[in-house]
Amino acid sequence: MDKLITTVLGPVAPSELGVIDAHTHVWIEPVIGGADDAPVLNDDAMIMAGLVVYRESGGSALVDCQPATVGRDGNVLRRLAQASGVHLIACTGFHRQRYYVPAPPLWEMSAESTADLFMRELTVGLTETLDSMQPVRAGFIKIAGEATLAATPLHLLEAAAIACRATACAILMHTEKGAAVEAFLQFFIDHNVDPQRLVFCHVDKRADFGFHSEMAQSGAVLEYDTFFRPKYDPEHNVWPLLDKMITVGLASQIALATDMAEASMWRNPGPAAFPAVIHARLAAMNVPQTTINHLMGHNIAMRLAKPVRKEAYS
Ligand SMILES: [Zn+2]
Repeated sequence: MDKLITTVLGPVAPSELGVIDAHTHVWIEPVIGGADDAPVLNDDAMIMAGLVVYRESGGSALVDCQPATVGRDGNVLRRLAQASGVHLIACTGFHRQRYYVPAPPLWEMSAESTADLFMRELTVGLTETLDSMQPVRAGFIKIAGEATLAATPLHLLEAAAIACRATACAILMHTEKGAAVEAFLQFFIDHNVDPQRLVFCHVDKRADFGFHSEMAQSGAVLEYDTFFRPKYDPEHNVWPLLDKMITVGLASQIALATDMAEASMWRNPGPAAFPAVIHARLAAMNVPQTTINHLMGHNIAMRLAKPVRKEAYS
């Protein structure tokens, strides 16, 4: 059995992918009745143009972090991947409750039936693509933590743990600026999830080196994405933190990303800033090319890759 990454166009060997933005958003349909401030990303021409420039600038794949019923459209992702030549990886899972319409069904379901739904999207197809000739499969489980473990829906975390154990798919977890990662990590260890399957997102918003080195040593991957967010003062936070993590030899536990959920970010700096600007900056810091490749693609590819029988896709 080979280890393969499930993209929206089918399985791909990790070695076929180069630069990968480890957490971003390619398409977000408006959610009628959801949060007023929820991002919308559905300008087809702008997104298509951004994807082409991303590829021309050295980008290979993008990890789309929008789960079902809060804006995901697997049919659109498939079309954009085909037309742009950029590999897209879609997700199953769940977002923060505030982004759903009131009383979302997932909150009423059991952990077991939710896990079944996640596994169906990972192994058969995303719900909105099941009627098409070639359903699009999810490549990972995206979940969302609140500021504390207690405020996070535990049955949905449990569902993610069940689906992860059954499929070996990676779990990418939204965190509220890195809050409670220690508790989430312990939850998954207690539920027999290998920390190697876990990616904690947005943790550079908590740029505390002690916390980062401790979490990295658990085996989990830490996703950094504030490079183009002046609000989080990247010059004084993520860049020095990243420099220190590389210096102490923990670059293998970090995946870089941009989290461009806002249409304004797709316009400026645009998705191509990831392969262009971040790569140039790391090179200027004299980070070895192998390490740059790990931070900008290899590390997340190794987490997204899982044992799959290629025949299963034919
Ligand atoms: Zn995101």
